[in-house]
Amino acid sequence: MANIGFGYDSHRLEEGRPLILGGVRIPFEKGCVAHSDGDALIHAICDALLGAAGLTDIGSHFPDTDNQYKNIDSKILLARVVELLRQEGWQIHNMDTTIIIEKPKMAPFHDEMVRTLSKVMQIEPSQLAIKAKTNEKLGFIGQGEGVACVAACTIEKIK
Ligand code: MG
Repeated sequence: MANIGFGYDSHRLEEGRPLILGGVRIPFEKGCVAHSDGDALIHAICDALLGAAGLTDIGSHFPDTDNQYKNIDSKILLARVVELLRQEGWQIHNMDTTIIIEKPKMAPFHDEMVRTLSKVMQIEPSQLAIKAKTNEKLGFIGQGEGVACVAACTIEKIK
């Protein structure tokens, strides 16, 4: 049996906050405002995985009202989601993602993101795609006020 999943996340960008996307710290004057470390790519990935497995969403597993998740490294949340799926007999087949951000360019960080996240998800780098694009200066993303990420995945039941 195979299931597909889809996830979306966005965060506001503000000066003086660290910008962390795909588990990688990116040097930039702005970063995500969030209860956790604000890694919108990981949050979209978590929602895609949880959705595919019928396990609700990231907010119900890790509520932003819970202080144990304050400033938490989102890689820890992703590892827990992957473990939850594994316990239910699910294996990740592939994960396809897009980061939508006006600035800075994501290309220099692409390989490190793929390496980092495929390791956390215990998959091969070839099973994970991370794409990036601008929003053509349109809307909140185009004005540099925020970042959005989308993720789609397929998972397979192995037991
Ligand atoms: Mg988020």
